[in-house]
Amino acid sequence: MADSSTPVVTRIAPSPTGTMHIGTARTALFNWLYARGRGGKFLLRIEDTDRARSTPEATQAILDGMGWLGLDWDGEAVSQFEQAPRHAEVAHEMRARGHAYRCYSTQEEIEAFREAARAEGRSTLFLSPWRDVAEADQPDAPHVLRLKAPREGTTVIEDAVQGTVTFRNDQLDDMVLLRSDGTPTYMLAVVVDDHDMGVTHAIRGDDHLNNAARQAQIYRAMDWAEPVWAHIPLIHGPDGKKLSKRHGATGVMEYAELGIPAAAMRNYLARLGWSHGDDELFTDEQAREWFELGGIGRSPARLDLKKLESVAGWHIARMEDAELVAEIGRYLALTGQPALSQVQKDMLTAAMYCLKDRAKSLPDLLDKGTFALASRPLQPDEKAAAQLDAVSRGILLELTAQMQNVSWDRDTLEATLTQAAEARGTKFGKLAGPLRAALAGRSVTPSVFDMMLVIGREETLARLKDAATREA
Ligand code: GLU
Repeated sequence: MADSSTPVVTRIAPSPTGTMHIGTARTALFNWLYARGRGGKFLLRIEDTDRARSTPEATQAILDGMGWLGLDWDGEAVSQFEQAPRHAEVAHEMRARGHAYRCYSTQEEIEAFREAARAEGRSTLFLSPWRDVAEADQPDAPHVLRLKAPREGTTVIEDAVQGTVTFRNDQLDDMVLLRSDGTPTYMLAVVVDDHDMGVTHAIRGDDHLNNAARQAQIYRAMDWAEPVWAHIPLIHGPDGKKLSKRHGATGVMEYAELGIPAAAMRNYLARLGWSHGDDELFTDEQAREWFELGGIGRSPARLDLKKLESVAGWHIARMEDAELVAEIGRYLALTGQPALSQVQKDMLTAAMYCLKDRAKSLPDLLDKGTFALASRPLQPDEKAAAQLDAVSRGILLELTAQMQNVSWDRDTLEATLTQAAEARGTKFGKLAGPLRAALAGRSVTPSVFDMMLVIGREETLARLKDAATREA
């Protein structure tokens, strides 16, 4: 095990599958938080040994997911496939050290062994007859390289999340390290790469816990320091079942497309399986400071989209206006929508203070900000159009005249509109509907005063006039 004085090196080692699963994103986040909170390194290795699946697009999907989430890694992304010669070199070294052997058994022989074992009620774990055959007696024939695994006793994994996990060696076979074509197996590749990359902490899904026993055997055979193991429970759906498509979005980019800000997604994913007291809402700095392996729970976390929405709302409310406008730009590009013009960006930035307090997502923010983005003449929606009857249009026309010369601040605008309402024997509330319709073309909007202040006198009066003179 890595001693505590070694600088922390973590990694995410995704196999390209076409999308980045949120489970992978969460594992990446945990590794990133752990390294970044300790001045360590966070590395990325693409496990691209499956040549059929490892297309450039599938690899790009991982880079996109990492990029969107803002999980920056140190150095170049490592391609596992490209390390194959090094994996083979280690396998040969293991053989030289007496920890691996050539096995010439054919697939048919292995099958026959298993069948006989089944018939005799013995364990079907393959025991190669070549394990102890002297070099001189080995034929010049195709063979694989197998690990000479301990047959007695146990292999114990001290896991930072799962505790002490004991595997009986008589239940672990002599795994293949190098196939007969000389290509390395996954189990070998992971260990060699983690060792070569200096990984001190292997934080990953608990679907890899069984692999840890086998991988530990390779570390021990090579006399290499094992990383600290931390196997985190997988993410489940809200019903407690294994997460699947029917629970909703499983790809991290689907959340980007729903308009969840990346900072909110990081906060939400961090809480999926890890906790720091009762803290639900936190910044990246806090997460980096608080994150430790002891805070990872042993039971599967459940996806909760309502909670995600409230986490998103909290982050939106506290993000800088310019940062939100930039996130909106990314969201629009990602969903193939037209980009905002500079004028729209400026208007949206100016409007942000009255939009961001109750928005649940970026599209929600855009929707609330329609008044700031729209250009004249506005096309009122059905509800808004209904507010613009003949009487209301008359009032709006009078208002354009009355507001021509008032000073453009909240107090004066409030006083002017309240007086205008009183003069008509009514309350300001009665004017609000037509004003919203005129200013935003909507019936649900930010406050009339906020809208007037954001778009300014000239635009306000022009919109009121448009609405007042509109054909019913
Ligand atoms: N490539 C594996 C996966 O995508 C991860 C291997 C590891 O973390 O050791 O599940």
